[in-house]
Amino acid sequence: MHTNISLGELEHLLEFAPVVLYKYVLFPEGKGRFLYISSGSSDVLGIKAECFIEDIDNFWNLVNEEDVDRLYEEDINANQQGSFFVSDIRFNNPAKGNIWIRLSSKPSNELFEGHEVWTGYMVDVTDSKLLESELEERAKRDGMTQLWNKNEIVNSLGDELARFQRDNLPFSVMIMDLDYFKEINDQYGHLVGDDVLIQFTNIASAELREVDILGRFGGEEFLAIIHDATREETLVIAERIKHATQNRVFKDGENTFSITVSIGITDVKQQSPDSVEDIMKRADEALYQAKQNGRNKVQYK
Ligand code: GH3
Ligand code: MG
Ligand code: MG
Repeated sequence: MHTNISLGELEHLLEFAPVVLYKYVLFPEGKGRFLYISSGSSDVLGIKAECFIEDIDNFWNLVNEEDVDRLYEEDINANQQGSFFVSDIRFNNPAKGNIWIRLSSKPSNELFEGHEVWTGYMVDVTDSKLLESELEERAKRDGMTQLWNKNEIVNSLGDELARFQRDNLPFSVMIMDLDYFKEINDQYGHLVGDDVLIQFTNIASAELREVDILGRFGGEEFLAIIHDATREETLVIAERIKHATQNRVFKDGENTFSITVSIGITDVKQQSPDSVEDIMKRADEALYQAKQNGRNKVQYK
């Protein structure tokens, strides 16, 4: 065990460790400069350190354009505050393609032409970013049907309403509730019930268009946002879902059975204010009417 290493060993370490160490200075006019970049740059960033040291634009040109402005602002803010800096950005590594890198640095007590020198590191965080976005995506879904969960569908409804208020793009909302679903569970068991919910998801998805949004609102209740459709068009889609559901033959071993669905529909109203709550309430009342009218019905309000 030793804590001192020779210069040669240090060079070897800097070349092969999956990290780029750097020294950086930001001049008051807003342009920065790399004073040093370690040789790990060739591997991590796909460009030789000297290129970045010669001209910092060689670095900026490879920062994903969606992240350029943010990184620039964060850099200036950190320098003004003289505190710790950390930022994750997308970077176009010429050898590997798009990667995520984390830059982290802090002031070093060293000055260059009178300005604070920051020392830091860059590492490739692509794997953890991918995992992070996969987890974020999973948190928006219902685990069983993979449809959007209640929270997401309410958010989408808010987005759709904002779009309507801005661009006057109409939309409709459909609440679908399976009829007498408790009896399916009681008669065939919960696992068969689960399978029915998944199959109903497929039936409804098949009748909806790419642009429509389908979510599981809870239990055996589903909500669809029908994008840019008239009331008549929405009624046609709902009738198709109703028929396809009624006609599907479900199996449990030797037994076969069928189910029905009741659907409540409303569309966004011109008169303001129409809120997410108003829309949900109307769709719910329409669903209630469909149930009252004998189930296996489509009702509009
Ligand atoms: P209605 O026609 O009035 O809608 O009657 P219903 O039986 O469908 O309605 P109710 O609200 O009484 O029962 C809903 C049932 O849905 C009760 C619950 O056990 C079942 N359920 C909710 N979530 C799940 C699930 O994830 N899996 C299964 N198998 N059953 C579920
Ligand atoms: Mg039900
Ligand atoms: Mg219900």
